[in-house]
Amino acid sequence: MAANTTDEVFKWIKKEEKRQSEGLELIPSENYVSENVLRAMGSVLTNKYSEGYPARRYYGGNENIDEVEKLAIERAKKMFHADHANVQPHSGANANEAVYFSWCEPGDTILAMSLPAGGHLTHGSPVTRSAKIYNFVGYGVTEDGDIDYEDLEQLAHEYRPKLILVGYSAFMKIPDFDRVKKIADEVAKESGQEILLMADMAHVAGLIVGGVHPNPLEHGFNVITTTTHKTLRGPRGGLILSMGTVGNPLKKTEKKLENIPTLIDRAVFPGTQGGPLEHVIAAKAVAFEEDLQPEFRDYAAQIVKNAKTLADELMKLGFKLQGNGTENHLILVNVKDSYGFDGKVYEVALDKIGLTLNANALPTDKGGAFRPSGVRLGTPAMTTRGLGEDDMKQVAKWMKQVADICVKAKDEKGLDEHTAELDALRSEVRELALAHPIPGIE
Ligand SMILES: *Cc1c(COP(=O)(O)O)cnc(C)c1O
Repeated sequence: MAANTTDEVFKWIKKEEKRQSEGLELIPSENYVSENVLRAMGSVLTNKYSEGYPARRYYGGNENIDEVEKLAIERAKKMFHADHANVQPHSGANANEAVYFSWCEPGDTILAMSLPAGGHLTHGSPVTRSAKIYNFVGYGVTEDGDIDYEDLEQLAHEYRPKLILVGYSAFMKIPDFDRVKKIADEVAKESGQEILLMADMAHVAGLIVGGVHPNPLEHGFNVITTTTHKTLRGPRGGLILSMGTVGNPLKKTEKKLENIPTLIDRAVFPGTQGGPLEHVIAAKAVAFEEDLQPEFRDYAAQIVKNAKTLADELMKLGFKLQGNGTENHLILVNVKDSYGFDGKVYEVALDKIGLTLNANALPTDKGGAFRPSGVRLGTPAMTTRGLGEDDMKQVAKWMKQVADICVKAKDEKGLDEHTAELDALRSEVRELALAHPIPGIE
């Protein structure tokens, strides 16, 4: 970065570059973008106001911006074989909010995976704005970690939701989209009211584009929401794909499933957002082109291979995993059942050796998630750095060594007595990390 400035901010950016370079990122929702993505994001496009949509703007001077946004839209449609794409959501949360707003009236019921089962905060957690507006009903997961389809079916008949949502942040199976579509069709027939089928694929979108995960739009779903910064490896942001007729977003449109693309455009702007972040949209367009390359398919396949190897290796070493493994990029370790300490201690201890992940509640956890029983990890970022299956075995070994230290330490304070052991492991992690540099850092 050409930073000929003495602003203190740049000192911290440099330090963050070092932290990212020297550690290994196990957080399943993080990734490393390419230099071109960074360059587009740091461009003069951030100077521009462009409320509206290509060729329908409320400000002049958008002839270049329009071309950029059109490229992002076309590439996004191609990635997901969608009729329509809205590339303007500032984040995954904003994308979800816009879809709810496009289709539901206050008080309408939305059926979604409950938070303890693996759903996301934006799927009806009582602390969110959406939960105050809509009536969220949560379905659960079975003991072996799959969606409880019988629960989902029963709740759908009982509550007759306006929208059924399949999506999650901590779920390791491949959903049966056809089964959910069938349930929705039956309930819609019963009630005579259309049901919007929405898939929040924020975590697995890159696996869909890379051809190693089914595409819900090809199984009768109407809408996909996603982030662009997780497995899609783009800038931080949101994206909405939909099926239906594309109309004029500036005109009032009847609430029918067929019109969902237009309803979504209107719900993003002016419904829930103002001026789009066109520098981020440019970076999305650059990332999407990367995602459409054959190499990205290899990347997606390797993410899953790495996750399966890491999961198998962890289980061999004695770790208990939610769902006994993984079918995607994500692993949920039941730390409490494996070794008796909680996820927070383990998160802190692993951070000390340069392995970053997050403590995460398990479906069996009761109450607040402040000291959850598990940790969540994944392979997208490590795979971007070029790590393969042998490296995953090494990571599992480090994780076991840290678990053994935590057994002795008991809590965060106790870790202080094991600084020498942890430091030695940290050097090993640093050596592997530095052998696999991050794009954009000299
Ligand atoms: C990450 C995530 C989001 C939210 O994305 P933000 O960009 O952080 O707002 C929404 N839904 C799911 C399922 C996610 O995993």
